[in-house]
Amino acid sequence: MNGGGATPQIQPTAAAAGHGLSVEGLTKRFAGGDVAAVNGVSFSIPVGTITTLLGPSGSGKSTILRLIAGLEHPDAGRIVIGGVEGTTLSPQKRGVGFVFQSYALFPHMTVRRNIAFGLKVRKVPQAEINRQVDDLLTAVELAGYGDRYPGQLSGGQRQRVAFARALAIAPKILLLDEPFGALDAQVRLSLRQWLRRFHEERAHAPGVAPVTTLLVTHDQEEAMELSDCVVVMNEGKVAQMGAPQEIYDRPASPFVASFVGGANLLRGHIRDGRATVGAFAVAVPQGEKPEEGAEVHGFVRPHDVKLTKAEDEAPAVSVARVERLALMGAYVKVTLRLPDGGTLVVELGKAEIAALGIVEGDRVLADLQGAKIFVGDYSI
Ligand code: ADP
Ligand code: MG
Repeated sequence: MNGGGATPQIQPTAAAAGHGLSVEGLTKRFAGGDVAAVNGVSFSIPVGTITTLLGPSGSGKSTILRLIAGLEHPDAGRIVIGGVEGTTLSPQKRGVGFVFQSYALFPHMTVRRNIAFGLKVRKVPQAEINRQVDDLLTAVELAGYGDRYPGQLSGGQRQRVAFARALAIAPKILLLDEPFGALDAQVRLSLRQWLRRFHEERAHAPGVAPVTTLLVTHDQEEAMELSDCVVVMNEGKVAQMGAPQEIYDRPASPFVASFVGGANLLRGHIRDGRATVGAFAVAVPQGEKPEEGAEVHGFVRPHDVKLTKAEDEAPAVSVARVERLALMGAYVKVTLRLPDGGTLVVELGKAEIAALGIVEGDRVLADLQGAKIFVGDYSI
């Protein structure tokens, strides 16, 4: 991701108080699985916010949503929805709305009837259903599409119908499992913006309840752009939890540093009290006194590396070679070959490249002072 550090932060709104959802010590082991799919997971979400479960495939995200929805039963732990103990409630009584990656609309029903489905099941009077469906069609920006069938809609429109159907039952919590995953890049982007806008409007409109959302994604850019809070998952456990910027700027482990932000990974050891990664010596974290020879992992984001042209007399051991310059639109992706044979990807603005005057094949010095160093034996 380019320039993720500049992603604007959306602060939780005033409505973001009170109980949305909390889970405590949630654990789920499937028959035959030797490790727990979800392993002691705890977090809570304030009302009116968007929280994202972000993690690689298989890290337990969908299982957490299914446990919250009541589609699976936990081996241990509690689920509290809107301040009400929900762990043993039936799915219908939990007050959750669910949107999956695939639209799962009823193909033989019109958009109106799809949206009205949950209200009909709950025996809401028809006049009231009509009024609510009209409101929902407007909310998902599909007024006028009520009489179409799902097959007559685009992917993005169908997914908005799925949102409206999930919202129709006025859920205490909206659970979204990779809801934009099947859509092409542009539609995904506009649907993300719609969801953020929808949240903001609901949070501020008088007389309507704010929406509380738990979103699952493996796309870190989506998480950064949409979320008030990100819960990073790895192998069934919470790796880190916090505001998107905090996770980006202060990753708690090598796993988080490598998963969020597309950092370069450099391995090395402690030499003379400093982290030596490749040909670079970088200060160790303040307060740490690592043992000589200890293993280190260094992470540096492509836009945190500073380059200077190497003088002819610069020792070969510290000089990197510019292997490739790729123009990526607003920035240039520079691939460096390091003296130890490794590569380092650097992103610079077009103007910076011009000012440096570097071309492919040039010898440069790289300043890694922005690197984040983890000392110790981490498995990543
Ligand atoms: P994610 O959504 O993060 O990709 P999942 O929650 O789907 O991850 O899966 C977490 C782990 O649990 C995976 O190892 C997966 O294979 C396993 N798992 C999920 N559902 C089942 C199931 N019904 N039976 C057995 N194993 C399952
Ligand atoms: Mg999943």
